[in-house]
Amino acid sequence: MSSLAVASAVVLCVVGAEKEAMKVEESVVGRTPEGDEVRAFTLANKNGLKAKLLNWGAIVSELHVPDNAGKIADVLLGFDDLDGWLKNPAYFGCATGRVANRIGGGKFTLEGKEYALATNNGPNHLHGGARGIDKRLWAAEVLKGDSPSVRFTYRSPDGEEGYPGNLDIAVTYALTDQNEIKIDYEAKSDRPTPVNLTNHMYFNLSGAGSGTILDHELELRAERYTPIDLTMIPTGEILGVKGTPLDFTKPARIGARIGALTGDPGGYDHNLCLDGQRGELALAGKLRDPKSGRVMEVHTTEPGIQFYSGNFLDGSIKGKGGKVYQKHFGLCLETQHYPDSVNQPHFPSTILRPDRTLRSTTVYKFTAE
Ligand code: BGC
Repeated sequence: MSSLAVASAVVLCVVGAEKEAMKVEESVVGRTPEGDEVRAFTLANKNGLKAKLLNWGAIVSELHVPDNAGKIADVLLGFDDLDGWLKNPAYFGCATGRVANRIGGGKFTLEGKEYALATNNGPNHLHGGARGIDKRLWAAEVLKGDSPSVRFTYRSPDGEEGYPGNLDIAVTYALTDQNEIKIDYEAKSDRPTPVNLTNHMYFNLSGAGSGTILDHELELRAERYTPIDLTMIPTGEILGVKGTPLDFTKPARIGARIGALTGDPGGYDHNLCLDGQRGELALAGKLRDPKSGRVMEVHTTEPGIQFYSGNFLDGSIKGKGGKVYQKHFGLCLETQHYPDSVNQPHFPSTILRPDRTLRSTTVYKFTAE
């Protein structure tokens, strides 16, 4: 089949009694500098929700969501062009790993052997290293089923970015008629290795490029958090959020207490420990935008959530529609294990052993009020 024919291929699956046609449209976006074809997959549900995915970085590049008047906006920061996505310095929308967030000093010891990883964030290792899973080409398969779904797979070879073991990763995105984007992660390794997978979507429920997220209201099911040192590595303590700006146990405007988090660049960039998490899918938090009425719930099987208020956005990235992304123009709610868990034996373990399959699920669900 010519690439043009592939570009226009549309996969239709018949769903349920209504025989609703659920579509995954596939297209060719361009090529990587190595000459590999980058493809996009557009998923739509019956309510007008639309998600666009890329086989580069298993990225969610667009997410179109209705507001309380039915008006649709793309709520994800990102780019219009492939070049933007290939560079993607702020990790918009990508699968992140092998180990998301930081590993202190880029070092860990596993079964008596010390491993040294790239230190690509000051003295620390961040988001899988110099070239993590967010900057790799993934294989893609459109799945048959009730909801339009695409499964991306990538084999990270033994030693890639310094990590031990061949690691097979699968990330499946589904768009349900309940207005959810559901992410299922799976990973298997042939040697013990640390793994902590997340997705790095930057949300702005008023629409990408429309301003800051400081007026969004956030609620998190998290009574504790992991304090960090000056290089953003957990000190090892697990403290209560009560009396701190991290207390989102009741809905609070993000901008209300952000000024108390001083430093350079300041703002929220913290792991919160989700209450009572035992590996089952549970509500982690709720984000509400009073302006558009859009509401997003986050459900996850993960024990932690990194709340990052886009502090490092500084106007140097020109995104969708030529809009410049300034500080706090988007926020991330990254469901994951706690940062630097590989060096903190009392945190829930991130070590994946060959006799186990890592399975993890996160759901972002949209409503409007
Ligand atoms: C981290 C931030 C980092 C951002 C973009 C977040 O997950 O917590 O510190 O700047 O990702 O890399």
